[in-house]
Amino acid sequence: MSVEWPFHGLNIPALTAGGWRPMPFSEFVLKIHGRCNLACDYCYVYESADQSWRTRPGAMPTRVLTATAERIAEHAREHALANVAIVLHGGEPLLAGKTAISEAVGRFRAAMPPSCDVELSTQTNGVLLTDVMLAMLDEHDVGVSVSLDGDRDGHDRHRLRANGRGSHADVMRGLNRLAGSHRRLYRGLLCTVDLDNDPIRTYEALLETGPPRIDFLLPHGTWSAPPPRRPVDGGGTPYADWLIAVFDRWYHAPRKETGVRMFEEIINVLLGGQSQSENVGLSPVAMLVVDTDGTLQQVDSLKTSYAGAPETGLTVFDHRFDDALLHPGVVARQIGLAALSATCTTCGIRDVCGGGAYAHRYREGHGYLNPSVYCPDLMKLIGHIERTVQRDLARAQPAQSN
Ligand code: SF4
Repeated sequence: MSVEWPFHGLNIPALTAGGWRPMPFSEFVLKIHGRCNLACDYCYVYESADQSWRTRPGAMPTRVLTATAERIAEHAREHALANVAIVLHGGEPLLAGKTAISEAVGRFRAAMPPSCDVELSTQTNGVLLTDVMLAMLDEHDVGVSVSLDGDRDGHDRHRLRANGRGSHADVMRGLNRLAGSHRRLYRGLLCTVDLDNDPIRTYEALLETGPPRIDFLLPHGTWSAPPPRRPVDGGGTPYADWLIAVFDRWYHAPRKETGVRMFEEIINVLLGGQSQSENVGLSPVAMLVVDTDGTLQQVDSLKTSYAGAPETGLTVFDHRFDDALLHPGVVARQIGLAALSATCTTCGIRDVCGGGAYAHRYREGHGYLNPSVYCPDLMKLIGHIERTVQRDLARAQPAQSN
């Protein structure tokens, strides 16, 4: 067990004595296949400090699927949940194959109490989105999000096959099928920010299939293993500059072309709402990961911290999901302000920023009680969005009062 925060220094009995109660899990990320058909060079599952995937089964065995379905149903019943989200994840989840996915989905739906709605989706690299696969996903009402990093040059800079060949053409074939006759399943795109890609060209390439939403992800990194070109001495804001270019293009478009999750969440919190994203604001995180071997994990992005960082030591066979709710790493992502460093606590934008993604706060020897390694970028981006929205609101007010 790590001696770093939150394993050392987070007093859970004191929190509960003070009235804090954990929020039940409502999103379950299931690694139904632990291998991948791509070899992206920035992948935090296969290229990070944590190489635990090597010792786990490829596909999630039936007994793990069955036990997981029962645990989700048990959790839904015990907490009277009205809805849960189940995300079929990997590795590359579609490697599990059409028949296995179809059976798994049937198992999850059948296990749930009738009072609980189940929203099923999958996060895929898009290469295996064939007509047959999409027909099965359509039949079972499984939403689909696809990872795409921009145009061919931008995407193929990192998202490669094991032989070094780019995957863009294959992904676009699948994506066009999804955005065509299976459009109702299309949930959106995930794009990892790469400073070597032009922000506007990237954004406009992502718009090509009319995604309902784009999720821009900052490359994972920590104070001990910084993200590419993110200076840890505080100088420069390369990621803010990249994202601000996209924000201005998105916000000032004559009509809404798509939703951009990060920007919408920031605006939402600036206007007094609650964030639905772990990476914005102080809302508790209600997500749990089940790996192919049935172990319960916190979140994959922690793999960039140190080997074993996402582990809870719990399994779907031997533990209720309520046991995971009291794991220090889970508690730390549920207590909002109480999990922020002294620097973040006194920061003027802390309620919007929320200290950044939990994984990006890690510093070897100190744990997660630090500002985000992206702190200067987050300050600049949030400040820019706030000023832009305030200017618009100020302009709108006289018109409304007429
Ligand atoms: S901007 Fe920096 S100091 Fe402020 S809350 Fe975010 S990470 Fe913390």
